[in-house]
Amino acid sequence: MSSQISPHVRVRFAPSPTGYLHVGGARTALYNYLFAKKNGGEFILRIEDTDEARSTQESLRGVVDDLVWLNLNWNEGVDPVTLKDVGPNGPYRQSERQAIYKKYADQMLQAGAAYYCFLTDAEIEAQRAEALAAGRSPHVNSPYQDWSLEKALEHLKAGNKGVVRFKTKHLKKDYVFTDLVRGEVRFPSDMVGDFVLLRSDGMPVYNFCCVVDDHLMKITHVFRAEEHLPNTLRQMMIYEACKFPLPEFGHISLILDEDRQKLSKRKGAVACGQLKDEGYLASAVLNYIVLLGWSHPEGKEIFDVADMIKNFDISRLNASGAVFDRVKFKWVNAMHLRALPNSELWNLIQPFFAREKMELPQDPAWQDKSLNVFKPYMEILADAIELYRPLNDKSYVIHDEAEEALKWESTKAVLTTWKELLAAHPTETFTEEEFLKIQDEVKNKTGAKGKNLFMPIRVAVIGKPHGAELKILIPLMTKKSLIARAETALAKV
Ligand code: GLU
Repeated sequence: MSSQISPHVRVRFAPSPTGYLHVGGARTALYNYLFAKKNGGEFILRIEDTDEARSTQESLRGVVDDLVWLNLNWNEGVDPVTLKDVGPNGPYRQSERQAIYKKYADQMLQAGAAYYCFLTDAEIEAQRAEALAAGRSPHVNSPYQDWSLEKALEHLKAGNKGVVRFKTKHLKKDYVFTDLVRGEVRFPSDMVGDFVLLRSDGMPVYNFCCVVDDHLMKITHVFRAEEHLPNTLRQMMIYEACKFPLPEFGHISLILDEDRQKLSKRKGAVACGQLKDEGYLASAVLNYIVLLGWSHPEGKEIFDVADMIKNFDISRLNASGAVFDRVKFKWVNAMHLRALPNSELWNLIQPFFAREKMELPQDPAWQDKSLNVFKPYMEILADAIELYRPLNDKSYVIHDEAEEALKWESTKAVLTTWKELLAAHPTETFTEEEFLKIQDEVKNKTGAKGKNLFMPIRVAVIGKPHGAELKILIPLMTKKSLIARAETALAKV
């Protein structure tokens, strides 16, 4: 069957908009994207929103925004801004494709590959209990499978509600395919019973829509999460019944937490939106997640998307679960962050300062200098907040812990002398050496030394006796700001 599939690569990411995009979904999207790029093919974004109760517009908006943030641009699907269809194979939202599914369901009913089933939930439950008690697999055994279509249609006309079920009884064989990640996979057909294609309200189920859409959207390769592997049997049955060529499948391994359980948000952010808010860079997220189940041929750990596209090779996809190591992830982010030009990094940290209402100098030279100082201390963008906070005059306060140092007998003389020396300094800023020289002069003039000398100055500069290193901060501060701080501290002496 697979020989009929087009050689022109078309892949898709098919999120259900029932929540946020998490790292697992992002990785599935990324592998599809890379495979398309590597093979000069197309990447399609299809929205699987047939679960009306759980699908929301907000979720769709969020998933689309996260994919845009990650730069995983698609060729067909919904427009990233308007969410309207773009591309020749739409609609791309399953909720708008009902008529299409109906048509294929009708064809399958006509051909006898599916039938209307009028079993009630209670009847199905009773069958299930009985089968389990007898040690049989709990498959539905519908008395309606042999009804003629005419009879079933009459029954429907008379007001009865029925689902459309796929008929499996005659399919006695193993379904075998070569998974691109896991190698040969073999499913005996009796693993599943007659399954639903259309619910009684006409709503199609995932397995059915997925096959119809993958076929009509000319999808050649399906990379998706391992949890869909059992669905592949049902889907292969539908492909066969519809005489559609079978695409290639690759089921991507699970992402595990450090304790080898399924990744959960309890141990830290797994939602792309949250990672963005914490100051992870899109490039670092992609770099880290591509390595959860794939390895770079040169063993590289840090690389960009162009490198990924160049080197992406599905033979390097790993079938075993990958552990999400948050410490390593942070390190990968730090590597990407530190590789950014300062001007770009400065722009990226602005939303973090804005969130904290921090105002910092507008001078690009100062910004550049400050990042040279702070960049080595940053792993995520949010780290900039605490690093820069001492430089923000508006958030300067004298903390309670500073009280003790302000009570010492020598403190007033130390701060007064320090302030005078600052004021007498010929330039508006200070180098580390100039700062240390002033401190020495304060020592000579007041006789204060050790903590009696350093602590009051430290309190004046950062408002507390412990914290950031002064020799790092001082070269980034102005005379005006330091004098104002000395005065605020003196007022509390
Ligand atoms: N909507 C499914 C999901 O979000 C997609 C499964 C598939 O890719 O076939 O898991």
